[in-house]
Parts: sequence; C-alpha cells; structure tokens
Amino acid sequence: MINVSKKCIGCNKCVPVCPFAAVQLIDKKAVINEACTLCGACVQVCPVQAIEITREEGATRDLTGHKGVWVFVELMENHDKTKHSHKIRPVTFELLSIGRKLADELGEELAAVLLTDKNAGFEKELGAYGADKVYLVENPELYEYNTDIFSTAIIALTHKHKPSAMLYGATIMGRDLAPRVASCLYTGLTADCTGLAIKDGLLLQSRPAFGGNIMADILSPKSRPQMSTVRPNVMKLAEPIYGKIAVTVREDIKIDKSLRRVKVLERKLIHDKGSVKIDEARIIVSGGRGMKTKEKFKQLEEICQLLGGVVGASRGAVDMGLKDKAHQVGQSGTTVSPKLYLAFGISGAVQHIVGMKASDIIVAVNKDPNAPIFNVAKHGVVGDAHEIVPKLIEALKKQK
Ligand code: FAD
Ligand code: SF4
Ligand code: SF4
Repeated sequence: MINVSKKCIGCNKCVPVCPFAAVQLIDKKAVINEACTLCGACVQVCPVQAIEITREEGATRDLTGHKGVWVFVELMENHDKTKHSHKIRPVTFELLSIGRKLADELGEELAAVLLTDKNAGFEKELGAYGADKVYLVENPELYEYNTDIFSTAIIALTHKHKPSAMLYGATIMGRDLAPRVASCLYTGLTADCTGLAIKDGLLLQSRPAFGGNIMADILSPKSRPQMSTVRPNVMKLAEPIYGKIAVTVREDIKIDKSLRRVKVLERKLIHDKGSVKIDEARIIVSGGRGMKTKEKFKQLEEICQLLGGVVGASRGAVDMGLKDKAHQVGQSGTTVSPKLYLAFGISGAVQHIVGMKASDIIVAVNKDPNAPIFNVAKHGVVGDAHEIVPKLIEALKKQK
C-alpha cells in the first residue's frame, strides 16, 4: 500500500521520477493512482518523507502469478574497441546456462533482463545461451551503471511481469544491485550461491556457511522473486546454440535522471600491463604455504611465463606475504575455472577448494600423501615441490 501524508508540500519532485506516470499533483498535493507498482522511486526523492509504502508480511503475500526465471545481463566496457561500446560479461552466460536448467525443470520461461543505452544485437548471444526472451530497456540514462537508475528499472519490470526467480552475478555490480532490488521488493537474497536447483517448485539456493565448513540450503517459500547472486566461474557454461535468437520485448520504462543520487564526475582507465586477470585465466599456477619463501614462490612465475598462465595463491601463501591478495584463489579470494590448475604446496582446505574445483584439469604437488587437495586433483604428485618446480622449468624450457 502507498500513502501520501499531510506532510506533502506539493514540490512536484515525485511526479517526473515515477516510471509509470502514477503520480499527479492535484490541488498542490501528490495523488497516486492505481498504475503504481510500489517501485519506491518517488519515496527516495521526496524531501519531506511524505510518501510511505507499507508492505504485506510474508505469510499474507499473494505469490500467484509469479512465473519464469530471470537473469540480469551485466554489460562491461569493451576495451578492444576504440569507440565507447559494451559487451556481455561472461558470468551472464553462466547464469543463463544454469537458468535454462531451472526453467526447464519448472516448465517455465527463461528471460534475460537487458538494460542499456544502445542494444548491439545482444539478443543473439543471449538466445544462444538459452534465453527464450529478452526484456530490453533502451534509454540514454542507462549508458553506465548506477544503483538508483538500474534498480528502479528492474523493480518496475519485476512488478509488471512477476518473475519467480532472478539471478545476478556476484560481481561488483551484481553485489550492489541485487540487495537494493531485494530490499525494495521486500524479498530475500542469497548471496554467493555455489549451487542452484529446484525443490518442490522452489529455488534451492546452496552456499557455504560458517567459514565454508558447512553448506547451507536456503529456500524462500514466502516471497517472490527468489533472488540469488552467483560468483563468476562457479556454474558450468553450456554449449551455445548459435542461431537460436531470443524474442525481444521492448519495455518503455520512463527513467528520470533526477533519480541518480551518485554522479560520476571523472573516469580514469588505468592500463596496467601486469594486471591480474585470474578469473579469466586458462592456466593458473598456484602456490601455498608449502612454497615457504618469496624466492621459491617466484619460480612459479617462471612456469607461468613458459605456459602462458597467471599465478594463483592460497590464503596461507597470501598471509605469509608470498603473494598479494589479488592472486588469492578461494572463498575469500577469487573463484576460478581454468583449463589447467597447478597447485604446489597447497593442502586443499575447503575454502580453497570451493574457489578452484570447477577447473578442467587439476594437478597437485604435495609432500603429504593424505593432503585433501588430492581428492579433487586429476593428477597428483607426492613429492617435494622445491625439487619438482626447477625440474619442471627445465623440461618446459627444453620443449620451447
Ligand atoms: P597449509 O594448509 O599450511 O598447507 C601447506 C601444504 O603444503 C601442506 O599440505 C604441506 O603438506 C605442503 N607442503 C609443505 N612443504 C612442502 C613441500 N616442500 N613440497 C610440497 N608440499 C609441501 N584459503 C584459501 O586458500 N583461499 C581462501 O579464499 C580462503 N578463505 C578463507 C575464508 C575463511 C572464512 C576461512 C576461515 C579460511 C579461509 N582460507 C582460505 C584458509 C584455509 O582454511 C586454509 O587455511 C588455507 O587454504 C591453507 O593454505 P595452504 O594450503 O597454503 O597452507
Ligand atoms: Fe510511481 Fe513507483 Fe511512486 Fe508508485 S512507488 S507512485 S510507481 S514512483
Ligand atoms: Fe509531495 Fe513529496 Fe511529492 Fe513533493 S515529493 S509533491 S512533498 S509527495
């Protein structure tokens, strides 16, 4: 329910921000009509807190009519091009891959939600990865990410189409956007899911809890949409079916720039040649506490250069100062899924494993035959890393 109290001073600020033209000024007072979707955009601009939204308690909420699995399409700067342009962030395809399975199990539709200033035929790629439909909002105000603008558009779409579940990447953008949407919709959000499935028609959201020592299964039976964020590289990517184009549904949502509370004054793009792109690496050579010294750890960089990979590290190695945090793989570091993951002197604690178990081939070197890392390794070498690493470097050099 939405209500305008006597505090209203007729300032007119709420009228232009409403995406549904649901507010009018009548006799210098704001009056809200039945087109209101309770998106909350007007509440945040009112200078005297005259607008109040009261939400229904979970037990009494009407959940009928909520159908379909939605995936938020995250766009990123396309640095390959000289002109300002965007491309789809890979985590979107991973979400569509799992979203397809969930939607099939529910017998419902999979939709991608695309907010952009200019659509560049993205529906082709989104369709190839499983989307049946693309809800497209094209508006100059969507030229770059902004919490207020993006959340208002998503909330408006959600009220209109009532999805049952919605997935976001657990990226900087997704971690900012999803909680904002969840709180405005008065629904729950499970962050950093590592598993998603359907149980009795509900979204079963699994994520590590208590420092990764147990897996928690979370259900949201009383609210919709059921919302999750999922880290990049956690969900297996499906094979794209090119030629399967998603149906594009253009949504004309009014977006007023006065909603934007944060303004970007200046943008600086720093081109760091040595920057770590561990989440996108195809080969990762990782070291743990067993590498013991900085000098010995440095030898892993040589293997990387010879193989064309990126250096990774366990938290043990990071805590010892052998490598900086940007290289940390695991629950409190980065989740990776390279083709090849080499682990030297890493024990294989659960918090490390959750961050690299999706790698195609894992090779572990550890002097302890009972080290848990061997449980996930395809190839295991029981031996001293300090003897094996120099020999490997020598062998790779000979091959070059
Ligand atoms: P250790 O467990 O000390 O293992 C060292 C291994 O090296 C041993 O197996 C040993 O046999 C082997 N070794 C020793 N010498 C040699 C040698 N000469 N040759 C070959 N092998 C040798 N950890 C992460 O990695 N990433 C995370 O993101 C992360 N997040 C965490 C979040 C929380 C909330 C908590 C509580 C913990 C987290 N941890 C994380 C820490 C994790 O529990 C482990 O402590 C850590 O992974 C251990 O690092 P390690 O394997 O390098 O060290
Ligand atoms: Fe318009 Fe949203 Fe305010 Fe309703 S809550 S009047 S839809 S801005
Ligand atoms: Fe009234 Fe607030 Fe709307 Fe201004 S923004 S017209 S004070 S309800």
